This record gives sequence, structure tokens and C-alpha cells, in this order.
Amino acid sequence: MTIIQTVTGPIDADSLGRVLIHEHVFTGDIEHLLNHGRDFDEDAEIARAAAKMNAIKASGIDTIIDLTVLGLGRYVPRIRKVAELTDLNIIVSTGCYTLDVVPMPFQMVGPGLLFDEEDPMPGLFAGDIEHGIMDTGIRAAEVKCAIDAAGLTPGVERVMRAVAKANVRTGAPITVHTNPANGSGLIAQNVFAEEGVDLRDVIIGHLGDTMDLDYLTALAERGSILGMDRFGIAFSLSFEQRIATIVAMIERGFVEHLALSHDCYCWTNFHPGGVARFHEHQYSAVTDHVVPALRAAGVSQSAIDIMLIGNPHRHFVGAASRFAARNRSTHPADGVV
Ligand SMILES: [Zn+2]
Repeated sequence: MTIIQTVTGPIDADSLGRVLIHEHVFTGDIEHLLNHGRDFDEDAEIARAAAKMNAIKASGIDTIIDLTVLGLGRYVPRIRKVAELTDLNIIVSTGCYTLDVVPMPFQMVGPGLLFDEEDPMPGLFAGDIEHGIMDTGIRAAEVKCAIDAAGLTPGVERVMRAVAKANVRTGAPITVHTNPANGSGLIAQNVFAEEGVDLRDVIIGHLGDTMDLDYLTALAERGSILGMDRFGIAFSLSFEQRIATIVAMIERGFVEHLALSHDCYCWTNFHPGGVARFHEHQYSAVTDHVVPALRAAGVSQSAIDIMLIGNPHRHFVGAASRFAARNRSTHPADGVV
């Protein structure tokens, strides 16, 4: 049995059920919220978010991975209030989202910097996984970083290596936000591999934004899961193109490397309007539109189950079992290291 930590406590991995691998509950700039967030009604937003989580559960989804980390407004006490009002499993993440420089609390601290000491990031991330976030008792179960149009800037690379170290130290799997336009998924895989990450532990995010089958194939052949995770967002590709790309990848034999999601949120202050820029960008798109469209395109129910159940399950259980095996081989039972 593999235990997976959720906001409301540990569950057996076999209870994960159908998983949306890349979502958010609340995202936003917390400093802006504290200074300019007059309109934010926390109790109302928690109730609204819980209603959305309940609707996801009613649609047949059992678990979401909330990839809101430092830089995206993570605040788990608020997530707990939502999680207590729903039966949906909510898994939270640690790590850092930056597309360029590291957040201020890290800019002067680290090897060779003004405060020339150990980089605090890997330890903070691992601590969120092993001991919990602050004194909430809520433990993260996923590690997250990002690389986008700016590529592997020094800040992006530093976070990526810290995330990799947290994975190696704890066995928690990784999701990386990428931009397919510059092939940044391959760059991320290279950095992770250099740090000793097993690339099967990694979901490469936002690959639903490309139809470049050779790029997708190259990433999948190294073992990672491809996040087809922006259903309902009408930029870069249409819904039909996103569906066609999944069908083509299944035809190429990569059903075990595909996972589905929306990258939705219940509330944000990153843009006006608070919720979605696109009307179709709803947590229900996968169950209401994607699955029927895939079935109509000839994709079998068992392939759907692999993408929604099997692959997310393997993402957690595979990483945990490889971590256990690594630790057994470096720490033999007889104590002779
Ligand atoms: Zn996201």
C-alpha cells in the first residue's frame, strides 16, 4: 500500500480514482490581495470553491492535484477550509513558480551569494513533504517548478535543481510548467536527469498546447507523462486540435504517457474578472466534453481509464516505490552502508 498525502490527511493510492493532474483552487498575488483586495470576500470564495469541488466530484473525478506553489499564491489554511466541505481529494504541492528570477527571500541566500550558505530551497520543499507546511499538518505530495519563454535563466535553473533535489530526497513526484514553443520540456528533463531524477517521476506540463508529435514523442520516450492539461483554454490550439493530438499520440502507442486536466482555478487576482478568461474553461470540460470527444474519435474506455486513473496512480506509486528501492540499495538492512 502506498500512502498519498491530501489536504485532509493520508489516503491509500488506490483511492485516488480519477485524477485531474494540473489544477488550482485559488491562485493570485497574496501581497496584492493584502493591500488592494478590498473586494475579496474570503468566506464567499471558500463556499464558491467548495461548490466547484463538489461539482467536480459529482462529475466522476475523485482527486485533483493543486499545483499552486510559491509565486502563485499558495495558502493552505484556506485550502483546508475548502477541502473540509468536499469529498474530492485535494493534493497540494510545494516548489516555486518563476519564469525568470527567484523570489526575493532567496535572491541573496545561497552558494556564492551575499549570504553564502546552503540554498534553502531544497530543504524547504522537502520539509513541506516530510513534515508539513508551517504548523498546519498538511503535507505536500508533489513538487513543482516552471520554465517558459525566457528559457533556463539562472533563477529558473536554480529552482529546477532545488525541485529535483527535493524529489530525490523525498520521492515526491514532479510537475514542471513548460512552454512547448521553445522545447523547454526537454531542457527540464536534462536538468532533472543531471540531478539524478528518474524521468518517470515527472509530468511535463502544458503539452496540450502543441501538436508537434515528434516533440511529444521525444519527451514520452524518456519516460515522463505528458500533461494534456489546458482543456477549455482557447489559446494556441482549439479544442478539436487538442483532441486530435491525444488521439494521434495514442495511435503512436503512448497512452501510458498521457494525463488530462484543465489548469483551472476558482479565484485569482492575476487578471480581471476573478475566474476564467474563457467561458469554456471549467473544471467539467474533461468529463463533459473531452471524454465524449475522445470516445467519438475511437478512443476506448480502457484508454480513457489509463489516462485518468492508471497514469496518475503510477505517477505517485512509481515514484514512491523507486524511492524505496533506492533507499534499500543505499542503506542495506544489515546497517553496513
Ligand atoms: Zn497551472
